[in-house]
Amino acid sequence: MSILKNEYYNKLGVRRVINCASYLTMLGGSIMPKGVVDAMEKASEWFVDMKELNMAAGEVIAEFTGAEAGLVTAGAASALMLQTAACMAGSNPKYIDQLPNTDGLKNEFIIHRSHRTNYDHNYRNAGAKLIEIGNTGGTNEWELESNINEKTAGIIYVYGPKQAGAIEIEKVIEIANKHSIPVIVDAAALLPPPENLRRFISKGADMVAYSGGKGLRGPQSTGILCGKKHLIDAAFLHSAPNNEGIGRVAKVSKEEIIGLITALEIFIDKDHSSVMKKWENDCNIISDSIKSIDSLKVSFIKAPNNPEDINDEESTHPYLIISSKNHSDSKIEELLAEGNPSIRVRNGFETDGVKVFTSNLQEGEAKIVAQKILDALS
Ligand SMILES: *Cc1c(COP(=O)(O)O)cnc(C)c1O
Repeated sequence: MSILKNEYYNKLGVRRVINCASYLTMLGGSIMPKGVVDAMEKASEWFVDMKELNMAAGEVIAEFTGAEAGLVTAGAASALMLQTAACMAGSNPKYIDQLPNTDGLKNEFIIHRSHRTNYDHNYRNAGAKLIEIGNTGGTNEWELESNINEKTAGIIYVYGPKQAGAIEIEKVIEIANKHSIPVIVDAAALLPPPENLRRFISKGADMVAYSGGKGLRGPQSTGILCGKKHLIDAAFLHSAPNNEGIGRVAKVSKEEIIGLITALEIFIDKDHSSVMKKWENDCNIISDSIKSIDSLKVSFIKAPNNPEDINDEESTHPYLIISSKNHSDSKIEELLAEGNPSIRVRNGFETDGVKVFTSNLQEGEAKIVAQKILDALS
């Protein structure tokens, strides 16, 4: 099978993965368009002043997000760390040097309990202390208001894996404004649709983080931070190439910065409705091919049409949910992952059945996935 020929991976004995699990860091994020790879190769031919490059890239990000300023970061994860660092220490060199020790600084960040994820650590890396409000059943506005005090440095708002029980962002921003406290948003996995690049800034969020290596299809190790100029300027001082700040551990290269900016331009110019049709078509190829297996139950979930309804990563793309009368979900996952290529689906979330996302499938892979399901689960 020629799809298994790749001298670099072959040499290391590393298998090919067909990614039906969406933009997972564990599987390499996404595949960069050729235009991005070409741009990175070209960028590798020169030295540049990294500060000048990051400033120029920031202007492009500002233009596409409607924010005052922007910054290329090392993944959304480092953007989250820089958000809390910038809110706590600002641009003060003494405090930039001092973090993650927050003595003498505001260091409390209010976060909805339903917004807590395994990405919390990135906020805490800078020394932030998370103050929880509400629960998955609901959150009262008084819970937010009564937790604001002289130690409050910001309010965190996360578009993570499914939200329930959070106060609407518009209301959170209104309350934050009343107390002059910044609202920092994690929208890492909410692209596409492109509308989401402007959505939270236009509602008044102070800083917003996105992944560069998920639906944007830039280098996997990149992210975007955009927002108010004084905060982004501070975030820059906390990060590489500057040597004093907490973000020095998370640098981006000149090739990655050019790659991210090129990915952003390609993303903006793309015909997203035809991309969505291709993803849906791949779902249909798989579900039509496996209809004949009586023991399987297959449902097709489409992405919402209205960008305002896209509030978690799952709803950015269509997917199939597949369950079997004969095998547990974990067994399905295991059977499909065996062999080369290894087919990875998503399991372990709240639904019965494994989820099969088609947004990361390359040309011809939908048929390979269908055949493997036929072979493994018939
Ligand atoms: C993926 C993700 C991140 C981390 O993004 P990276 O670009 O991989 O660093 C943070 N928050 C959420 C909600 C995510 O889905």
